[in-house]
Amino acid sequence: MQTSIAATQTTRSICCYCGVGCGVLIEHDGETILNVKGDPEHPANFGKLCSKGSSLHLTGDLSARALYPELRLGKGLARARTDWDSALDHAANQFAATIAEHGPDSVAFYVSGQLLTEDYYAFNKLARALVGTNNIDSNSRLCMSSAVTGYTRSLGADAPPCSYEDIEQSDCVMIVGSNMAYAHPVLFRRLEEAKAKRPQMQIIVIDPRRTDTCELADLHLAIQPGTDVALFHGILHILMWEGWLDRSFIEQHTEGFDSLKTLVRDFTPQMVAELCGINVVDLQTCAHWIGTTPSFLSLWCQGLNQSSAGSAKNSALINLHLATGQIGRAGSGPFSLTGQANAMGGRETGSLAHLLPGHRVVANAEHRREIADYWGVEQLPGSTGLTAVELFEAVGDGRIKALWIACTNPAQSMPDQNKIHQALALCPFVVLQEAFSTTETCHYADLLLPASSWGEKEGTLTNSERRISHVQAAVTAPGEARPDWSITLDFARRLEQRLRPALPSLFAFDSPQALFDEYKGLTAQRDLDISGLSYSILDQQGPQQWPFRADLQSGTSRLYADAQFPTASGRAQFVADPYRAPAEKRDARFTLSLNTGRLRDQWHGMSRTGTAARLFGHVEEALLSLHPDEMRRRRLLDGQLVSVKSRRGSLVLPVQSDDSVRSGHAYLPMHWGNRFLKGLGTNVLTSPVFDPLSKQPELKHASVEVSKVDLPWQLFALVEGDVQNRLSALRPLLEGFAYASLGLAGRERPALLIRAAAASAPDSQLLAQIDQLLGLDEGPIMAYDDPRKAVGKRVRIEEGRITAIRLAGETAARDWLKSLWSEGRADEELRRWLLAPLTTPPGNSGASAGSKILCSCINVSQEAICAGISRGLDLNGLKQELGCGSQCGSCVPEIKRLLATQVAQAPVQL
Ligand code: SF4
Repeated sequence: MQTSIAATQTTRSICCYCGVGCGVLIEHDGETILNVKGDPEHPANFGKLCSKGSSLHLTGDLSARALYPELRLGKGLARARTDWDSALDHAANQFAATIAEHGPDSVAFYVSGQLLTEDYYAFNKLARALVGTNNIDSNSRLCMSSAVTGYTRSLGADAPPCSYEDIEQSDCVMIVGSNMAYAHPVLFRRLEEAKAKRPQMQIIVIDPRRTDTCELADLHLAIQPGTDVALFHGILHILMWEGWLDRSFIEQHTEGFDSLKTLVRDFTPQMVAELCGINVVDLQTCAHWIGTTPSFLSLWCQGLNQSSAGSAKNSALINLHLATGQIGRAGSGPFSLTGQANAMGGRETGSLAHLLPGHRVVANAEHRREIADYWGVEQLPGSTGLTAVELFEAVGDGRIKALWIACTNPAQSMPDQNKIHQALALCPFVVLQEAFSTTETCHYADLLLPASSWGEKEGTLTNSERRISHVQAAVTAPGEARPDWSITLDFARRLEQRLRPALPSLFAFDSPQALFDEYKGLTAQRDLDISGLSYSILDQQGPQQWPFRADLQSGTSRLYADAQFPTASGRAQFVADPYRAPAEKRDARFTLSLNTGRLRDQWHGMSRTGTAARLFGHVEEALLSLHPDEMRRRRLLDGQLVSVKSRRGSLVLPVQSDDSVRSGHAYLPMHWGNRFLKGLGTNVLTSPVFDPLSKQPELKHASVEVSKVDLPWQLFALVEGDVQNRLSALRPLLEGFAYASLGLAGRERPALLIRAAAASAPDSQLLAQIDQLLGLDEGPIMAYDDPRKAVGKRVRIEEGRITAIRLAGETAARDWLKSLWSEGRADEELRRWLLAPLTTPPGNSGASAGSKILCSCINVSQEAICAGISRGLDLNGLKQELGCGSQCGSCVPEIKRLLATQVAQAPVQL
């Protein structure tokens, strides 16, 4: 759809973040994206968007974009702008020479769940058919490969059987290892609405943390991290004991139940409750609900997948569905929540090292032959390629000599970041195809190729419910950025001239549609058959769920209704894997279990969300969460700086008391890399140990230790305007501090926020450099310096309001100053304070600036909401009076939690 109202046009698209795959209407003028709205006709979201999706138009800061190809001609040199022909010829020469000298397995491709299906397909053909390597893996290895293995082992194919409408139709929904309220918010809205309409619907949440998702739960099992397999076996034990099984389904449609029965016999309720750290009654209630409900649906995400036992966890959960016959029926089935917007498209096109297009596998010679024949090449390589962790190990030890990274940021997202940074620094030739020039990986790119981004390219995506949508470019890409499929094909054709010059091209595609049409032929007769689908059908009939065979008029909403599974016997498989604890144990040196996860308003490594100041309102900086008992035991106070260490690395950051985290545990958001935080980010701590089958690393569990650090000299700065360029320029200067955190603030007038700390005052030269970059070295500046105490304060006031602040040595007034800045005030009180030796704020003012923004759509702070609750407002009252929660609804679970806490704490009226 492309409609025009005066100069503003509207183009239909899909949100580029999570796997819910919400339809978006982009309002634009052909060059700039002006606004976004939820697409009321898209069946994933029916017009709703979450806080991230509804801010997409605010993420277009061109200063964060890669605009031109840049080439570095030698390690240690700076990259210089070049043209596309020179860039791609250079890349083709480097790859051809490396392949000639060291063989095809000396190069690798590391791609992304953010790519479109056509992009993936081009990369797969390039790697497997032209280069002759299976070294092509995707960042989906970090989020969904355990689900791929789970579905394939248990059901025969990587095919989530359910639809979103099953969430609304189910009588019992179990959410496992997913803070769905933050990670898949629009789907969570659908669940909230279903529960409001049918309060008898039972909702179970299984998560070591009491997340906002638990606000909807009738039962929350806060299990010990990594004990999911024991829990599922324990539930099955009770189902067997109580006779809550579907024996006829087991007999007619499954295999392997006897071995599983023998295994789970030992998982008695008492043993499981003790191992999982839950009480027996809750375990029995959970099993009772699952065993007796008319329809049972399970939803899961990284809590199961990012584990050294991820495959076992997935299959143990699917076992429960098979044992109760809860699959292939309305409101029933195992349903993984896909992490990224088009991770599913990657799985379909074979973009994991062990896969081939059309849900085929490298290990199967027949599958290789089918693809080789279809592509018209002699053969495909038979050895399984390197998966993400293995791939970067091979980069580090020199086996991979040329690496092509597309649309992903391994220097932030991979575990054990010290090793990743070392590997990237050593790799002889790194190509980065990327829309953003600001990601941590850009630092290592010898060749940076600017890619089009969301709203700028055409292609298809598949969401969590197998629904394929066709998106078209709304605006032209900035600078010389090109669509990923076009960059990949252009490179492939140049490499082809060097590797097989006499043969017809494998890459004679002139559009994404041509790629789609070739790819869909590879799905014919497979479980994901889309041979009946085309761009024109998608445009006319709207998004469709696969399979969409040539003999069908529309897609398929639910799989396995006939209980026929795509296994050799046609039966689903019970998998009897034993319980294995997380790989890394807590011990006397590392006494805490670290869990990592998502925030509501940030996405992955923040390359896009890190450009929108509004998205920092909810959480401004990386905070380590510890249970209040743990804080007391360690004599820590809220906001104090701590060192958190794992066996692989350490970080300094503030700690916060958080009773949603169990004692003995710690929690840290996954989003921070070294652009926004000194150190190598959250993943400097995480473990590269991976599941033996899915090869997915255990990002959800590491043993860490936390200790107080004494960094009395502190810096706080806030400066309006040109935030991305200032951030890039300032970041290296902050290396001299033990702690440094950067973020954004403000809505209409975005500003860069800096916090830093050191054991003693830094060199005055460094402070002068920082002031210069902040624009605080000249002009309308008010300043007070006390060199004896190493304390100083500077404020720039323009047109009667603050536009920049820098406090050095002592930062007690930071929240007060920030509130003056956000209110546009620069009054006499400020002037008096500035010119006096005082460092603390006058009176008790300024407390409100520390209050986070809960509702980012309407800009309502937590403090304002708490004040409303104290006045007796309920959720509806808050919505009406303050507007919070009335737009995207992402803040509603948090408001409900505040309501529950404050109402519970209110004094009883006698
Ligand atoms: Fe985007 Fe939010 Fe929808 Fe996910 S739930 S696709 S992040 S709008």
